[in-house]
Amino acid sequence: MKAVMKVTSGVGNVEVREIEEPTPPPGHVKLAVKAAGICGTDIHIFHDEFKSWPPVVLGHEVAGQVVEVGPGVERVKPGERVTTETYFSTCGECRFCRTGKANLCPERRSIGSAVNGGFTSYLVVPEHNIHPLPDNVSYKAGALSEPLACVIHGALERPKVVPGDVTVVAGPGVIGLLTVQVLKATGAKVLVLGTDVDEARLQMAVELGANHTFNVQRDDYRTLLMDLTEGYGADLVFECSGAGPAAQNLLDLVRRAGQYVQIGLFGKPVAWDLDQICMKELTVTGSNASVPSAWDRALNLVSAGLVKTEPLVSTVFPIAEWREAFDAFERRAGLKTVLEPVD
Ligand SMILES: [Zn+2]
Ligand SMILES: [Zn+2]
Repeated sequence: MKAVMKVTSGVGNVEVREIEEPTPPPGHVKLAVKAAGICGTDIHIFHDEFKSWPPVVLGHEVAGQVVEVGPGVERVKPGERVTTETYFSTCGECRFCRTGKANLCPERRSIGSAVNGGFTSYLVVPEHNIHPLPDNVSYKAGALSEPLACVIHGALERPKVVPGDVTVVAGPGVIGLLTVQVLKATGAKVLVLGTDVDEARLQMAVELGANHTFNVQRDDYRTLLMDLTEGYGADLVFECSGAGPAAQNLLDLVRRAGQYVQIGLFGKPVAWDLDQICMKELTVTGSNASVPSAWDRALNLVSAGLVKTEPLVSTVFPIAEWREAFDAFERRAGLKTVLEPVD
């Protein structure tokens, strides 16, 4: 089968190789990949900015069909439409593994970086990672379960959001648009900030339920925010753009005793007025990937129609055209790009 692989470490060194179909060992499940999303992590692995263990098949946002199960697998059956969590193995013994925070395990090994991932026709994953896809979710949409689980962990499990909160989301990319929907599902009011390059994405934010959207380079968002909050500022702000100026802007927009939530990654240190954390008595939270509880909630929300991932899939490429797909991602063309295997 053809697979998009990081073949050796260093910048680039990604190519399509012919590899053998895997067979599932005990406790594992073999999936026929139907859709695999391209994520910033894949691009960072390409540029050698994120640790990988080559040779390895890239791709960790996977939806597919179970085709075979290994000895001892009972819960999962061939034929099921599923998605999969991404941690292939963790140590099981460290303080984090023992307290339900396997995302922080120093020995964590994930598909798509340490173990063969989804940019191919078949992959093998542990049975306990498997979640059935709700009937109303296509494979393409199901490939976004992983980023949605990450957003739920970062936006709902770390900070505390309650109905009626006024929130600001900076950065209407895939992560920002998932955050918007998750916040709307909690009963919060959501203002979304973007820039000139985000016009289409801001329009999408409105279609997905945002109360107000603004181009920070042109619109006066501050007046409306202050009107909505009796001049106090936002209860919570969510940085989803990974851009330094957005982070600083959100520090100015959050109210005293409010919550600042960092979901985007900057890839470098950024200037930040930390005095504001003291002066305003802010609570600041961050998040690293996801935990199993976030996956259950993610699939419940899409099943209930409270979060829609299908509209975020803008482009589908066959696996062989991975290079064009990676280029489109780096040009920030569209939203989520998905790869599909072709036999
Ligand atoms: Zn991802
Ligand atoms: Zn551990």
